[in-house]
Amino acid sequence: MESALKPPAIEPADLVWREGVPESVRFGDVYFSRDNGLEETRHVFLRHNDLPERFAKVPAGGSFVVAESGFGTGLNFLATWQAWQRYRPDHESTLHFVSVERFPLTRTDLAKALALWSELAPLAGALLASYPPLVRGTHRLVLDGGRVRLTLFFGDIGDAWRALDFRADAWFLDGFAPARNPDMWLESTVADIRAHSKPGTSLATFTSVGRVRRALAESGFEMQKVPGFGRKREMLKGVLPPVDRVQAPDLSPVAIIGAGIAGCTLAANLAARGIPVTLIDEEGPGAGASGNAQGALYVKLGVDYNDQTELALTALTFSQRFYRPFSNEGWYPTGLLQLAHNDQEADRQRRFLERNGYPGDVLSGVSREQASELTAVPVNTGGLWFPASGWLEPARLCHALARVRGVTGVWHSPVEKLLPEAGGWRIEINNAQPVWARRVVVCGGPASGGLLPLAGTVRLKSIRGQVTRLPDSELNPPRAVICGSRYLNPTLDNKVLTGATFDLHDDNPAPTLESRAENIQELKAMLPGAFSGADAGQEKQAKQSQGDNLADDRVAFRCTTHDYQPVAGHVRDELHLFTGLGSKGLTYAPLLAEYLADQLTGQPGCLPANLVRRLETGRLYQSDMANS
Ligand code: SAM
Repeated sequence: MESALKPPAIEPADLVWREGVPESVRFGDVYFSRDNGLEETRHVFLRHNDLPERFAKVPAGGSFVVAESGFGTGLNFLATWQAWQRYRPDHESTLHFVSVERFPLTRTDLAKALALWSELAPLAGALLASYPPLVRGTHRLVLDGGRVRLTLFFGDIGDAWRALDFRADAWFLDGFAPARNPDMWLESTVADIRAHSKPGTSLATFTSVGRVRRALAESGFEMQKVPGFGRKREMLKGVLPPVDRVQAPDLSPVAIIGAGIAGCTLAANLAARGIPVTLIDEEGPGAGASGNAQGALYVKLGVDYNDQTELALTALTFSQRFYRPFSNEGWYPTGLLQLAHNDQEADRQRRFLERNGYPGDVLSGVSREQASELTAVPVNTGGLWFPASGWLEPARLCHALARVRGVTGVWHSPVEKLLPEAGGWRIEINNAQPVWARRVVVCGGPASGGLLPLAGTVRLKSIRGQVTRLPDSELNPPRAVICGSRYLNPTLDNKVLTGATFDLHDDNPAPTLESRAENIQELKAMLPGAFSGADAGQEKQAKQSQGDNLADDRVAFRCTTHDYQPVAGHVRDELHLFTGLGSKGLTYAPLLAEYLADQLTGQPGCLPANLVRRLETGRLYQSDMANS
């Protein structure tokens, strides 16, 4: 089906309501039975996949994976979540629900459709609050305090099953009727279903069409016709033999080196999935580049909608959902303006808006007047407005994440070396006892390269950044974050923060007057309207930039890769690397931590294959050491 839309937008479903039930105009079929959709779901999908019984048997730290074709109104998902809440075991365990939707409902339609089920209201509310913007790609929703994870692929079914990495325990085949929606029942789709199944995987579908039954039987499922729901005489269920015993998950502890935003998000994520974590840092949580007083939730989206842009957008929308519960721990969703601060950027933004079709809940182009009103600072140009972004107190956030149950902090412990030992890693620490762990993730920022036990070098570089804080009395503090050649955050403790310098080949850890002057000068050039009472203010700043007031400045070193893209993945044996987030760590860390935690727990991956490729560690090694 060809789309006339510009990327990354995706066509929404076109619904018509008849007798209180939503129908698709495009497919001429109902989303669920007119008799009772919820009871139909329970009969067809839950009961015939034996879900209540199988849920109760999920081992500690384990997960159960349901995969569905056709997310539609999310009714099947919510009914499964409700059953999970009732029948799941008492111990730590996760329900993963992987679903695909080519024509997602708008939030308004979704709310209307789900309002039919009063007993599902709390779950529907949580789904609606996290429902992603209508953009193509893979959206991971973490619900129910992490006990439910929904991977929602907005796109075509064939693309979804090729792109995603998971193995289902149970399938819900829920396209529209095969005659009306043949794309959902192709032989190639059956092959994909088989490829994402394991011994013992079950499936259920409302249809009893012979062609579907035969294709599934030929691919190896033992198929059975059973009574359908309501007016439907028959439906199909199946199982892929042999029915296996439930595999115990690997719950061995993980040691993480480096407690910046990467290490802290990963530690909290693993701990919440039942994996004990030892988090080691030469100082403590948020001491390095993640320790600035303020930081913006910001990415620069490319003019071309390519993999790099998709990764940035996926990270942005995931982090916006991720930080929502942290509003008492340093998250401020004020909105963010990306200012068209010079001709080149104005031209870039013009081409960006022409070529792409982002929905307004992700971003929109705004005029100078609108931008001034949104930020409460008179600006000289328009820009791009990101309504769901904002700023954070990164160090505070790192502390909160490092405090969660299951994370043991080992502070003031500079790691010197990693040595393979006894099927795991001995982590040598200066002036302290070594720590041994079978599984290790290096999140050490610029120091990471030196820690990896590989011959030769890893292409990571360190870029000095100095940030400057100014008393807010000297400026018109903005109401929202403003980004351009510098960023300016709203007030915190009577100060506003701006920065950062970008100093390649400079390893001076101390703040300098030159860098402070550069920050102030750049900010003035970008946002003259932020400086109130002009003359008096400028005199004061001039004094500061020359004077001895460096106490409010801070230097940290960002870690970036040769291609300025993050790195998250396997290195060798049970050793992993997660760094290279540059100045976008607050945006990338939550998603990439989720991705690595998926890998370390063997649970379904939250990223499609094209984005996983961008993160791989192999691209960092110099060619002479590719085989080391
Ligand atoms: N499970 C849903 C629920 O609980 O509300 C109902 C699913 S409805 C019967 C079928 C869904 O499949 C529709 O939402 C439709 O847009 C989607 N669909 C149809 N063709 C598709 C395709 N080629 N790829 C992905 N989804 C598709």
